Amino acid sequence: MAIKRHPDDLAIFGGARLFASPKPVSNLVRPDFSRFMDYLDPALRNAQLTDGGPVCRLLERRLAELHEVVHCVAFISGFWALAILFRVLALPGRLEVVMPSLTYRRMSDIAAWAGLKPRFCEVDARTMTNGAEQVASCLSGDTALIMGVHPICGLADIEGLMGLAQEAGLPLIFDSVESVYERHLGRKIGGFGRAEVFSLGASKLINGFEGGYVTTNDAALAGALRAQLADRCAASAATACGLNAHLNELHAAMALASLDDLGEQITRNRARYLAYQQRLPNLPGIRLLTFNEADRPAYKNVLVEVTAGWPLGRDDTVRVLNAEGALARAYYPQPLHRKPMCYAHVPAQLPVTDDLAGRFVLLPCGELVEIADIDAIVDLLGFVAHHAGTIRTRLTAMEHRHEH
Ligand SMILES: *Cc1c(COP(=O)(O)O)cnc(C)c1O
Repeated sequence: MAIKRHPDDLAIFGGARLFASPKPVSNLVRPDFSRFMDYLDPALRNAQLTDGGPVCRLLERRLAELHEVVHCVAFISGFWALAILFRVLALPGRLEVVMPSLTYRRMSDIAAWAGLKPRFCEVDARTMTNGAEQVASCLSGDTALIMGVHPICGLADIEGLMGLAQEAGLPLIFDSVESVYERHLGRKIGGFGRAEVFSLGASKLINGFEGGYVTTNDAALAGALRAQLADRCAASAATACGLNAHLNELHAAMALASLDDLGEQITRNRARYLAYQQRLPNLPGIRLLTFNEADRPAYKNVLVEVTAGWPLGRDDTVRVLNAEGALARAYYPQPLHRKPMCYAHVPAQLPVTDDLAGRFVLLPCGELVEIADIDAIVDLLGFVAHHAGTIRTRLTAMEHRHEH
């Protein structure tokens, strides 16, 4: 690793990069390869590679067990799992899906694909996601569905949202991609609301290369979802149309192998999180968001707030880190209501969301990050803080040069 003595040594100013191989914020779990091949074997033997084959069915059973629910339906991605759920559950004749703006960057696109209109609501600054109060002020005669989203650290206001949905007679679903492992009041995440949605993408907790799934205790809903996949008409979902979006057997086998590794992965994640927790207090103005042990988190992400005590701007800090191969990410660079959209949506003014969107950073973690890398990242941040004045001046000069 390249040692920094002077601001000239920073990669953004032409110095050698700290990390030869990039250190991402993505999980990129690498399960045991022979286990993956073992799971895949029946699919290759039967020559059934997709359309809900035995490997996919086994994965669905294992995921239903993990989440302590009756039904799990797997899809090609979390994106399409959400889209079809929007279609199936939206109240007929109504268009608006209430969702936070501070969330997954394609959430509004999903509403558009489902023929619906995103309505962005404010977030609670404490949980960083939409609570009952924020959702309540966005309900109207055109509300078709409420979308609750679990944040990266902690959980959404599950009781508040469920109470509100019941009172208003509206369907509620949860995007639980960030809360695969958590428990709430003694129950596993997966069984709240009408249904919950998860992803099996490579950057998520359970790596299936790509994939997604819906969990629910509602047999009619699970039947309706399966009917859409099977290209059958389900009486319970007259407004939905079919979708060829099966999870293929290769991805299901990968997800099964990742699932077998989950407990050990969480132990490794926790060690990385604790390494940050131990070292970050040496830095001025960087606040680590802490997990609540009682929720049984998976410690997948390391999220920090860049407070007023930190001597460099959030975006400049991310740029300097990225140049070194530490692929820290702004959380979020652009809330959804600020995104250019070429489809119908409800415009919104969201000052809390705008403020939060400028303050947080995801730091490198996941399976490609060793504890020694965390030492190096925290040392680098210390170096950046020490030379912040010079760095700021030189970054500004670089920008002026680009403008001319
Ligand atoms: C990744 C993600 C999704 C979408 O899942 P894909 O499987 O990538 O389509 C949805 N919601 C959240 C919060 C995500 O992080």
